[in-house]
Amino acid sequence: MIVILKNHPDEAQLENLITWLTDQDIQVHPTVGASQTILGLVGDTSKIDMDLIAALDIVEDVKRVQEPYKNANRKFHPDDTVIKIGDTQVGGGNLTLIAGPCSVESEEQIVEIARAVKKSGATMLRGGAFKPRSSPYAFQGMHIEGIRLLLKAKEATGLPIVTEIMDGSQLPLFEDVDVLQVGARNMQNYALLRAVGTTDKPVLLKRGLSATYEDLLMSAEYIMAGGNNKVILCERGIRTFETFTRNTLDISCVPVLRQLTHLPIIIDPSHASGKANLVPPLAQAAVAAGADGLLIEVHNDPAHAKCDGPQSITPKAFDTLAKRLRNIKAACEAAE
Ligand code: PEP
Ligand code: MN
Repeated sequence: MIVILKNHPDEAQLENLITWLTDQDIQVHPTVGASQTILGLVGDTSKIDMDLIAALDIVEDVKRVQEPYKNANRKFHPDDTVIKIGDTQVGGGNLTLIAGPCSVESEEQIVEIARAVKKSGATMLRGGAFKPRSSPYAFQGMHIEGIRLLLKAKEATGLPIVTEIMDGSQLPLFEDVDVLQVGARNMQNYALLRAVGTTDKPVLLKRGLSATYEDLLMSAEYIMAGGNNKVILCERGIRTFETFTRNTLDISCVPVLRQLTHLPIIIDPSHASGKANLVPPLAQAAVAAGADGLLIEVHNDPAHAKCDGPQSITPKAFDTLAKRLRNIKAACEAAE
């Protein structure tokens, strides 16, 4: 349920309303927007008398929210969420460029790539330390050493770091990590979602291979229900009948999610396509469709990458692409 307040509501009356609701085990999430102040109500609102609330002096309107996701719902929070990470911001018209290798492989590799992508305008560095591989025999990542090397690359460039967490018990190892990635395979690992929901770190939540928009938003809701509202959604391709590409990039997710939620939307064309030559056109389409940013795998030696080499672009290709993406964004803004 949402309660839309009149402008400049009487503070004592507002306090009374909030106390009356919380006494009935309803959580109240106030959002002060540019044009309206809204109270988002979470809990069993079926027992709440809507007419009683609507009759209050301070209340403009009361609406039931049909969708099962509440905190993630745009009706709860009409303005876009903007997440500050170090000196950069995700959402709210900023173009976020998260770039780096699939996995951290050595100090030289990660620092060299970090320096190159930073020069080209990347706003964050990615790199896997714990890798969820389809085969238990494939390279599983450098684990804690990988995180240590990412921190070295951060020290060298100032770029905030994004890396995947696979289990809540790993949280102490991620203390200095800027953004926790929850991978596609773990999108419905509810214990992990609850664990990252207890932190105040931004979470990059990747869409599961066969997850609907509602599934994705319900997973975001798990994180937000724990009090962590810093969720960034990431589309990385879904499973379809097509096998030419690794997955199928669902570009429709950008306008659809934009309508359903206030959370930032990032596109990962690397895992979506599985092919380096397809990454630039898909990335360009994502920016034109209004995505808040991109997550792109960049490797200094794709042919010898320990993971996802075929879909990794070189630092030089990333440089060209980043310039084009900025131009496309500017052209879209000018066309508005
Ligand atoms: C990754 O980002 O390297 C990764 C494993 O992604 P996904 O969970 O989307 O497959
Ligand atoms: Mn990868």
